[in-house]
Amino acid sequence: MATLSVRTRRRALESLASTAEPVDLLVVGGGITGVGVALDAATRGLRVALVEQGDLASGTSRWSSKLVHGGLRYLAKGDVRIARESAVERHHLMTSIAPHLISPLRQILPDRGERQTSILRVGMRAGDLLRRTAGTSSSLLPPPSRMSVMETLGRCPTLSPAGLRGGVSTTDGQLIDDARLVVAVARTAAAYGALICTHTRADRVDGRGATLTDLFSGESFDVGARMVVNAAGVWSGSVDDSIAVHPSRGTHLVVDAATLGNPTAALTVPAGNSLSRYVFALPAQLGRVYIGITDVAAPGPIPDVPTPDDAEIDFLLDGINPALTRPLDRSDITGVFAGLRPLIDERGTADGVASEGLADVSRRHHVRVRGDGLVTVLGGKLTTYRRMAEDAVDAALATTELTAGECVTTTTALVGALRDPRESRLPPSLVARFGGEAPTVVESATVDRPLEPVAPGIDVTRAEIEFAVTHEGAVDVDDVLHRRTRIGLVRRDADLARPEIETIVGVTLA
Ligand SMILES: Cc1cc2nc3c(=O)[nH]c(=O)nc-3n(C[C@H](O)[C@H](O)[C@H](O)COP(=O)(O)OP(=O)(O)OC[C@H]3O[C@@H](n4cnc5c(N)ncnc54)[C@H](O)[C@@H]3O)c2cc1C
Repeated sequence: MATLSVRTRRRALESLASTAEPVDLLVVGGGITGVGVALDAATRGLRVALVEQGDLASGTSRWSSKLVHGGLRYLAKGDVRIARESAVERHHLMTSIAPHLISPLRQILPDRGERQTSILRVGMRAGDLLRRTAGTSSSLLPPPSRMSVMETLGRCPTLSPAGLRGGVSTTDGQLIDDARLVVAVARTAAAYGALICTHTRADRVDGRGATLTDLFSGESFDVGARMVVNAAGVWSGSVDDSIAVHPSRGTHLVVDAATLGNPTAALTVPAGNSLSRYVFALPAQLGRVYIGITDVAAPGPIPDVPTPDDAEIDFLLDGINPALTRPLDRSDITGVFAGLRPLIDERGTADGVASEGLADVSRRHHVRVRGDGLVTVLGGKLTTYRRMAEDAVDAALATTELTAGECVTTTTALVGALRDPRESRLPPSLVARFGGEAPTVVESATVDRPLEPVAPGIDVTRAEIEFAVTHEGAVDVDDVLHRRTRIGLVRRDADLARPEIETIVGVTLA
């Protein structure tokens, strides 16, 4: 059953604590990489346990731009292999794994006759070749095209018309939300038998097990495993001290979509005269636009929630404002969020990879096998999590005598991926978040007025709040505000919705 709850968590921990028999695979980390590994292994018939020290998606996986990239940006850096891999993974995600959570997003570069426009057009054509090679149809992701001035302004209404010759446009995939993808993968893994233990920290991790601590009860116990995968993201170095991670921060601003005239496409603007850096404004759920993205070194201890600095906010405003009729200022910003990309120091690592200085694994992914069998999988993208998981499980299997089935995740649909004809009568925003499961969200609700918004002006239904607790493993109000829904990205909305969410969560947990 694809259900996660306080009860399934408790049972999973009891089962792990009470058996001497090792699990086949222990996964450390419940971001997209860890849940992907758990799903890959569970669908190969292995007995899997995943531990996450916070909630699902409490790390980097909830701070992304929420795009399912087809590889255009990697092409720009000459990384054809990664670009191809991205386009292939995007195809699997949009056609069989999670079509319900991903929509095509038009991205527009305004054409004012600058050099960058013609260069990006060439890149877009190459990106489209990758789409075709991956087998993605042009009806799902339309090829690049030129847009008239009128159409460009129609889609991005606050774009300045001065000198505008039209727009150059391409299409990519956009997730309704990154944390929802993580939860859907985790629930699907649970449906295949994986034990998912949130709020559980792994210490003293090696290739054959770890000490687990239930962070609610404070109790610790040892668990044995035939294979262990470290999927702790920017925290990987605290699980395997031969890995030195040097994070780099990427920040987004949140503004009301109405402030930008409710755009229906993403606006992409070159940052200054750069040929490789762009500032973009992405229309998103809940009537918001995300403006990103920065890339700054973030040395020091890794915070639970990274915070951007003033210079990043200035960089983003200065980047987007020249394109707009009315420049945005700080009073237009309703929220900010930042995530950490991993850079790793490859000198002296256990697998002996010799390299000068730091390597950016935020684009490609690394799978490392330590002498004792501990496998670390790091870097990559949300878009490529499935491939990362396949590689990590293959590497882990190579350290044991265990036999397992072939990887089947290219065709394993996540919960909600199958369309239910009854969903068409439901609010589109509910269907966008739950796909074929939308009717179940409503029918399983015991809360009164299930289809009413949880607070005025916030299109998250009361039924969704209950479902977060009964089926999606939320254990408290913060899980609901910040990971099952993204109401919490805007403080004003969180303050408005919190009282009602507290009531529904309280009653459901009682
Ligand atoms: C700003 C930004 C924008 C991005 N945008 C995109 C995008 O648009 N599209 C895209 O495809 N990719 C994007 N990415 C990349 C993508 O977000 C990351 O590659 C991905 O989320 C990393 O996931 P992860 O599971 O490896 O790490 P995380 O999500 O950080 O998960 C690691 C987990 O391990 C847990 N953990 C750590 N130590 C322990 C322990 N001892 N015991 C138990 N649990 C532990 C942590 O709590 C954490 O939840 C972006 C990245 C950034 C930073």
